[in-house]
Amino acid sequence: METSSREHRPDAGLREQLDQLAAAHRYRRRRVLDGPQQPRSRLDGRPMLSFCSNDYLGLANHPEVIRALQRGAEDWGVGSGAAHLVNGHSRAHHALEEELAAFTGRPRALLFSTGYMANLGIISALAGRGDKVIQDRLNHASLLDGAQLSRANLRRYPHADAAGLERLLGDEGARLVATDGVFSMDGDLAPLPELMPIARRTGAWLLVDDAHGLGVLGRGGRGTFDHFGLTPDDDCILMGTLGKGFGTFGAFVAGSEDLVETLIQRARSYVFTTASPPAVAEATRASLAIAERDDWRRERLRELIAGFRQGAEQLGLPTMDSPTPIQPLLAGTEARALAWSRMLEERGILVGAIRPPTVPEGTARLRITFSATHSDEDLDRLLDALAQLPMADPIAKDEHLD
Ligand SMILES: *Cc1c(COP(=O)(O)O)cnc(C)c1O
Repeated sequence: METSSREHRPDAGLREQLDQLAAAHRYRRRRVLDGPQQPRSRLDGRPMLSFCSNDYLGLANHPEVIRALQRGAEDWGVGSGAAHLVNGHSRAHHALEEELAAFTGRPRALLFSTGYMANLGIISALAGRGDKVIQDRLNHASLLDGAQLSRANLRRYPHADAAGLERLLGDEGARLVATDGVFSMDGDLAPLPELMPIARRTGAWLLVDDAHGLGVLGRGGRGTFDHFGLTPDDDCILMGTLGKGFGTFGAFVAGSEDLVETLIQRARSYVFTTASPPAVAEATRASLAIAERDDWRRERLRELIAGFRQGAEQLGLPTMDSPTPIQPLLAGTEARALAWSRMLEERGILVGAIRPPTVPEGTARLRITFSATHSDEDLDRLLDALAQLPMADPIAKDEHLD
């Protein structure tokens, strides 16, 4: 019996919304990667030189990390079989937590399945209805979503603006202040030397999401705090991800004993989920050791960044002020960012076009990222291709590029 009219079917209207996204140049498509994450790979069956992964140190496909994963599967099997609080918390997870605590110089570290889940868990465990949570305007979506989930009152300060933060703190302060350490789409750094004393003086937690700083910045890759010569204290929460600089998968929170015990009791994205495979923890133990030991990977990144910035400056490209492996080129409109990325792709070079809502309106961009495994020749090929982009040509707003 046909009772529902077409207007009332739940999927009616989806096509229209998708068409609107395409018309706004915001439609996103996935590509199929054949083979491991590395600069030279095959995407959709075509050879491609990529400058868009977050595998900054080139550890995602490192033989020692692969072997650790294989041995881990032999020792531990594949699935963890349960949440950490039931019986899924293996000796492998535990050892990795101890190594991450030692690496970050904090009393404890706690593994989460992903960085997204870590941020949801931290903020919703520490803040609730009636609390104030203040964040940098350009923070990662997972920090903003964590504040939404907590039902706290979320306020956002202008990007990297310590004075703006102080204004929002006002007399009553806040429960928690959150910032990316390295901003994921701009590549610049949070002004931690200014933010730390402000948070301490006003009695707020300072949560630093160092997804893009760990492994890359500071001594032995200790991240943005160390880069500034700072040591996080008990009022700081350091969140790090393992799927970027460390090349594996997952995330962790490092902090005080009481903070970590509180998250174990109260972070719902920790409690109500299956522990990640122990073999992945073994792989991360290997990659953490390599990341800490191989200073040449950070040195190589510095060379690539300097070479790129020098070349881009000579070409008059619209770079942004970033000292990290994240080097955006500001396009402005979605159509232009997409057109640039398409032209590069025709030359066999893959660079992501980042569009709203990932970045603010009017700041669509190419997000170029470097890995320690890029060669000088790779960098030259990128700069040659960028030199061909029609930087000044206006692109018609209604031009349909998708
Ligand atoms: C990638 C990222 C996350 C999410 O981490 P996943 O482990 O990928 O879920 C969180 N914060 C920032 C700043 C990120 O770049």
